[in-house]
Amino acid sequence: MQFIQLLQDNTTMALVVFGLLGLCVGSFLNVVIHRTPLMMIYSWRQECSQFMSEQVDMPQEHTQPLTTIVAADQPITLSRPASRCPHCAHKIKWYENIPLISWLVLRGRCSDCKAAIGLRYPIVELVTALLSILVIYQFGVNAAGLSALILVWTLIALTGIDFDTQLLPDRLTFPLAGLGLAVNSQSWFVSPTQSIWGLLLGFLSLWIVVKVFYLITKKHGMGQGDFKLLAVLGAWLGPMMLPLIILLSSLLGSVVGIILMRQQGESKPFAFGPYIAIAGIIALLYGSEIVNWYLGMYP
Ligand SMILES: [Zn+2]
Repeated sequence: MQFIQLLQDNTTMALVVFGLLGLCVGSFLNVVIHRTPLMMIYSWRQECSQFMSEQVDMPQEHTQPLTTIVAADQPITLSRPASRCPHCAHKIKWYENIPLISWLVLRGRCSDCKAAIGLRYPIVELVTALLSILVIYQFGVNAAGLSALILVWTLIALTGIDFDTQLLPDRLTFPLAGLGLAVNSQSWFVSPTQSIWGLLLGFLSLWIVVKVFYLITKKHGMGQGDFKLLAVLGAWLGPMMLPLIILLSSLLGSVVGIILMRQQGESKPFAFGPYIAIAGIIALLYGSEIVNWYLGMYP
């Protein structure tokens, strides 16, 4: 408690401490981004195998291959198995796992086989550190600031996962929506009523757009995960921020989409979640300033 008091009294120290904490959390988020999809695949396989083995009237040659694969699968969690180089399976030691510094000292290469370690690892760590500093600068060291950190950290993980796999896992969005309702039961960001309306309207606004789009074009324009993510942001920031988030994410998404299309053609599926998440972070940090500035243009 004394330490928290010290951080509340000394802003510079608080920013340094939360910047360093952000680096470590960023390192953990790299693991979450990499492993969550693998954990989901593992549990899907388990469910399938269980479901198939319960189908007694199904011929054994149908169920056998899957149950064998699942039995051979190693269960994967965030902590197990220990991190290894994906190229040579060299076990990564604790001093090779220090955020940012290890990557710089190793010059972005595995210490054993010298295979390149992706630039995204230090980038995720740096971005997490910078955003943690901005959150604490904006909200201070208090309940709202600490809960905003959890929101931003989870949004970074969701951005990475959606970018890689076009998935926004329920195991992250559902608890985050619940947490949004819980923190706003204390009116930390918006009133409890606004939080509930934000959740509902966040989900419905994209759901309606996608249904209308489907009726006209017979194509699915967006994934279910995108509605859930907007519902999460509605629960945290209230319905008033939803137009800003939709506008910002469409702007960001179309700019990046056009650049990507020019570079690599239309082939790769386009994940919209990252832009909703980035727009959500901007709305959390600067939403009221942007809205006030906009309204101020029409006195
Ligand atoms: Zn290696």
